[in-house]
Amino acid sequence: MGIVGWENIKIKKEGTHMSKEYVMGNQAIALGAIAAGVNVACGYPGTPSSEIIETIAKKNKDKAIHVEWSINEKAAMEVAAGASYAGARCLVTMKMMGLNVASDALMSLAYVGVEGGLVVVSADDPGPISSQTEQDSRLFAKYCRIPVFDPAGVEEAYEMIRDAFEYSEKYKTPVLFRPTTRIDHAYASIVVDEEVKPKEIPGFEKNANRFVIFPRLSRMNHEMIEKRNPAIGDDFSEYRFNTVTGNKDCKKAVVAGGVSYAYAKEYLQDREDVKFIRVATPHPLPEKFLLNALEGVEEVLVVEELFPYLEEELLKLAGKEHLSFKVLGKHTGNSPLAGENTADGVAREIALFLGEFKADEKHREEIENVSNKIKGLLNGGQNEITTVPQAPARPPVLCAGCPHRASFYAVKEAMKGKKANFSGDIGCYTLGNAMPLDMVDTCLCMGAGITMAQGLYRTDEECVNFAFVGDSTFFASGMTGVANAVYNEAELILCVLDNSTTAMTGHQPHPGTGINMMGDVVNKISIEAILKAMGLTEVLTVNPLNLEEAKAAVEKCVNTKGVKAIIFKSPCAAIIKPTERNVISDKCISCKKCIREIGCPAISTEDGKVVIDAATCTGCNLCAQVCPVGAIEKEVR
Ligand code: SF4
Ligand code: SF4
Repeated sequence: MGIVGWENIKIKKEGTHMSKEYVMGNQAIALGAIAAGVNVACGYPGTPSSEIIETIAKKNKDKAIHVEWSINEKAAMEVAAGASYAGARCLVTMKMMGLNVASDALMSLAYVGVEGGLVVVSADDPGPISSQTEQDSRLFAKYCRIPVFDPAGVEEAYEMIRDAFEYSEKYKTPVLFRPTTRIDHAYASIVVDEEVKPKEIPGFEKNANRFVIFPRLSRMNHEMIEKRNPAIGDDFSEYRFNTVTGNKDCKKAVVAGGVSYAYAKEYLQDREDVKFIRVATPHPLPEKFLLNALEGVEEVLVVEELFPYLEEELLKLAGKEHLSFKVLGKHTGNSPLAGENTADGVAREIALFLGEFKADEKHREEIENVSNKIKGLLNGGQNEITTVPQAPARPPVLCAGCPHRASFYAVKEAMKGKKANFSGDIGCYTLGNAMPLDMVDTCLCMGAGITMAQGLYRTDEECVNFAFVGDSTFFASGMTGVANAVYNEAELILCVLDNSTTAMTGHQPHPGTGINMMGDVVNKISIEAILKAMGLTEVLTVNPLNLEEAKAAVEKCVNTKGVKAIIFKSPCAAIIKPTERNVISDKCISCKKCIREIGCPAISTEDGKVVIDAATCTGCNLCAQVCPVGAIEKEVR
């Protein structure tokens, strides 16, 4: 997802350093980090987090902040750790699955601690909308024993990330900041301080007893962390975003965190007849605050996304303190176990909890005001019923003119009638799984296609194993898998789908593109040279849009022993300006092979005739090479 021209929507406040800006949540997080004096910002692209680094890079005209797309999340975490040891304030950004990659460094860093404030933004993706899992970063923070901040809106994210830096330095620990998609991608006006400068960096003071992680130090620090965390919990009990409203004698309470708090607030407004408790810092749990807020409460509904984190924490707290309140949530069937929360869904959960779904009850009017959609539910509907027209269903598909389509088609054609497995990976090219291509048999996580192909090879050495990986993923986590294949004498054909960008997350640069986030032109790292240096038996580079050449490369590799690679090199169709397009001439015999075999969204039928959409066709010419009668021609756009 790229950034729209947000810099134009900015109103300077006369006579001050402040301006009002209309920004996306990720931009608010970036601006908050800049306001906190961040010195180093690094990350790896991943929806929904990518715009944070892009915004800092865009604002960094004087290059006072070091900004980088690191090759993966672990590298980003380690760059930040080093800079933090020298006292720099550091921001590390990623999506939640990136936290798995960074966890090796983060787990140890949690033990060693930091000097300059170090905030890790791990953007969670309930739904999931563009991820393989629905993991919850709050649990990861608990596992690492580090504090976590859970913003509920865009304006608040700007404020809260500054607090996160303060707490990180106060307790000398990395801190996790956990927005979710609906905060990352929402828009709001925020007041931004423009006169901010990066922090003065004190410099690295060598101290092996602190910065070298030996078992003895780990043992000591583990104990220190376990003793320190309750103190942070007490500190969080005073934290401004942990709030409670409602009368003291209420018997029912709603506890919420993250964007679910904002949804619940829409329904509950400023009501006094129910306690409404917001937990903005789920770890370490602000126990004193919660014990105080829950005094006299008999029943609690927990509203949260992803894991039943707060629900389980409250159950634990009730057990520990011998309290008798009942906790309702995901475990009791009062909230959905998976998927994204919505304002309507949360309103329904709360209305049911408060017994407000019966006719003529006093809050019926409020329920109706939440949105027209709730009316369907009042009539007995089980699911969300909406009066807003639904957007047409649009299954994800490779763009018209996407070179990946041509690469997959070439391999498919060359392997017709032969036994082959196709291991895929993370990127636009995962969409090669769709019909009619059907060229992705496995997809697990970043870089896994290359190593999984090796596992499949060990089970059937007669089968040809292909591993498809994008150029950015190759740098992020593909190279080690290739080294493993060469070292352990596997047989596979690596297909690097090199479109010279990180397309799926918004076209970020990577080491193969020759540009970095400081705006510098740098040496391009050649994938071909890396593969040759690793000792592959064959490394071929072809243009996938030349079907015969691409097929010949596949056939050559099939007949060569060892680990082979084909680099299918052609730019992403979304970043080129096409000068030509394809058209269907009178020679067309309506065989529909072009539709049946390549699945290009620009080709369809109208009144029984095959047509190519002039607006979306890029003139890639793949269809012309597929047509048996030469009916597809090129014309200038
Ligand atoms: S954005 Fe680029 S790489 Fe992704 S599907 Fe479209 S053309 Fe292909
Ligand atoms: S493959 Fe050629 S002949 Fe067949 S429908 Fe397409 S354009 Fe017409």
